[in-house]
Amino acid sequence: MSFKKNNLTTIDCKDFGAELMDIVLTPELAPSVAAVAHMKACPPCAEEYISFQQTFSLLDTWIAPEPTPYFNQKLAVLMREEQAAPRMGWFESLATRLRFNTGRNFRPAMVGALSLALVIGGGSLLVVAPNVGHSPEASAAVRDLQIFDRNEQAFQQLDELQDDDDGSQLNPDSSQNSAPTT
Ligand SMILES: [Zn+2]
Repeated sequence: MSFKKNNLTTIDCKDFGAELMDIVLTPELAPSVAAVAHMKACPPCAEEYISFQQTFSLLDTWIAPEPTPYFNQKLAVLMREEQAAPRMGWFESLATRLRFNTGRNFRPAMVGALSLALVIGGGSLLVVAPNVGHSPEASAAVRDLQIFDRNEQAFQQLDELQDDDDGSQLNPDSSQNSAPTT
């Protein structure tokens, strides 16, 4: 008999804890045999069950206070006042919304506006690009490279001029030839 009981009707404290709320909250349903057996065998769980039962039976005796008998009348008066209040104009209601909103409901509109700006900006770039032949808005890196190129050309021209000067110094004929032109 004890063998059968251990195998089929024994639950541990965790399972009993899971079942405890059902047992306490639905006293009209008979607790399972295993739960009763565990309660009998396990004093801490039995104590927990008793304390829960006492708490809930105490809560059952508690009567929630009734709302004041004037509650409905006051509510009706407030609703009538609100209905009789002058309607806000569209500008006033918009101002109220702007003043009290958190900005969260403007985010979709912002996303739409920014994507529209992107589309317009990209479209104008596409329209302008074929006419000019090269992108009018060069990136910073490209601009740096262009400046570097120009500097390189300037240095080369300076070097050539220096070479010419050197050559003219070495070659007196050319300097005499070039002298009248200056
Ligand atoms: Zn237990």
